[in-house]
Amino acid sequence: MSLEGKLLIGQQAVSGNQDDIHAVNPATGETMEPTYAGGGKAEVERACELAEKAFASYRETGLEARATFLDTIASEIEGIGDELIERAMAETGLPRPRLEGERGRTCGQLRLFASVVRAGEWLDVRIDPALPDRSPMPRTDLRQRHIGLGPVAVFGASNFPLAFSVAGGDTASALAAGCPVVIKGHSAHPGTSELVGRAVQRAVTKCNLADGVFSLLFGAGNEIGQALVNDPRIQAVGFTGSRGGGTALMATAQARPQPIPVYAEMSSINPVFLLPEALKARGDKIAEGFVGSLNMGAGQFCTNPGLVIAVKGQELNAFIDAAGEGVKASASQTMLSPGIHHAYKQGIEALSSHAKVREVARGQVGEGANQCCAGLFVASAADFLADEALQAEIFGASSLVVECADQAEVKRVAADLEGQLTITLQMDDGDVEAAKALLPTLERKAGRILANGWPTGVEVCHAMVHGGPYPATSDSRTTSVGSAAIHRFLRPVCYQALPEALLPGALKDANPEGVSRLVDGKREA
Ligand code: NAP
Repeated sequence: MSLEGKLLIGQQAVSGNQDDIHAVNPATGETMEPTYAGGGKAEVERACELAEKAFASYRETGLEARATFLDTIASEIEGIGDELIERAMAETGLPRPRLEGERGRTCGQLRLFASVVRAGEWLDVRIDPALPDRSPMPRTDLRQRHIGLGPVAVFGASNFPLAFSVAGGDTASALAAGCPVVIKGHSAHPGTSELVGRAVQRAVTKCNLADGVFSLLFGAGNEIGQALVNDPRIQAVGFTGSRGGGTALMATAQARPQPIPVYAEMSSINPVFLLPEALKARGDKIAEGFVGSLNMGAGQFCTNPGLVIAVKGQELNAFIDAAGEGVKASASQTMLSPGIHHAYKQGIEALSSHAKVREVARGQVGEGANQCCAGLFVASAADFLADEALQAEIFGASSLVVECADQAEVKRVAADLEGQLTITLQMDDGDVEAAKALLPTLERKAGRILANGWPTGVEVCHAMVHGGPYPATSDSRTTSVGSAAIHRFLRPVCYQALPEALLPGALKDANPEGVSRLVDGKREA
């Protein structure tokens, strides 16, 4: 398919008239065709108008029809074939196996949400039948279900051009909840976005849905994103990106005449605690696993292990030496965009020149543009606790080891941490008491706590939590990965004493779609 460089508004492909966007191949620095003329307020207006119109019918699609739509998007993405992988490789510098895996994850999560929609449990139907003879007060008939919030604005992430972009997790969960999506495509991979956007358009047509169910906008600068979040028809926002971007959109959403929720996933340094027995028994092995996780995707994962915390001593020194050797041997990798590379270099330079930080090792310096060469640094716990700048995310392969005097200081560092997506414990049987002492603090800091694994590699399943207190996300009560992500875009409605004719299908006595319901406090299959 030839790329047209157009915005996709409903079923139309339209040209914008604002500043141009060009993808840049980060490996070569070359500008890629076609030109995407950015959209502005007029395109936001049109997409939101269509989305609002589509919401009326889309939110009441039957479970099977909505699930089929999600399955069809997955099939259409697969149907693009290698062109999608080739274009994504050129726009992001990510290698083929990673992008093929990411396409599998993208289609897998669309199908997961299809199965969630079919099961109908997300409706969370509760029925408390009338008790006319209850004394001293009768009870009236009360029935609850969940409905979609309304049109959702999604900001495509730069670091997952498929799995958290146009038809990624935010879009899949919003569509599953019955919400039309207006996506602001990331300017770093517009061609990849157009290919996927056209696949979604085809699925809308095949499934006979209202065309405003999906639109894809492009636009350089913040204007289009701000206009989108300010549009009164938009009822929620999904975002993955920088802390600055996420907090700016939170402020915009809160300042609207009708404030709306923003689900922003922003910044996390994913601390790893090396507990004493594990460090003593297998420091070398842990160092090997750590370097592998640090380098994965040039460190451009939101779950990259950017902080290591342990009690200082011979065992920690041995770990630092082994990890330092691993970092030194690490080949350089192309980063996603010149902007991300620039921010990475600035972060690394700030650490390298920090008076209280020691540089342990840097990775190999590679040929080509926008190269990430990994960095490992050490600081004392006292210095870490004294300078909050040492907790700032460096997006890319960089990690800081914090040396503590004893387990009590480890606990103080844990208590001082900002909110995180993940916290990892490297522990053996003899560390259980130390881990128990830390756990209540760690639970308050992170959305996911792991033992003896690595935080990179997020399973898309029912139990996953990819969330956490600010600044990891803007709302710690939710997850952006896994089937529970659907709840971000739903809200409960209670129907009191409504005649059967007015009740939605899932609340009717006959339960025509056979959804699971809580009736008078008892679960019905
Ligand atoms: P970003 O700068 O936050 O941009 C993400 C998206 O939000 C882009 O579409 C951007 O539009 C838009 N945006 C940003 N600020 C906005 C504002 N004030 N108003 C309206 N729209 C706004 O993130 P990025 O481009 O992906 O990468 C930059 C940095 O983000 C990285 O260096 C890294 O530090 C961080 N990052 C973190 C994660 C994570 O998972 N923790 C993931 C990706 C990136 P434009 O196209 O106009 O810029």
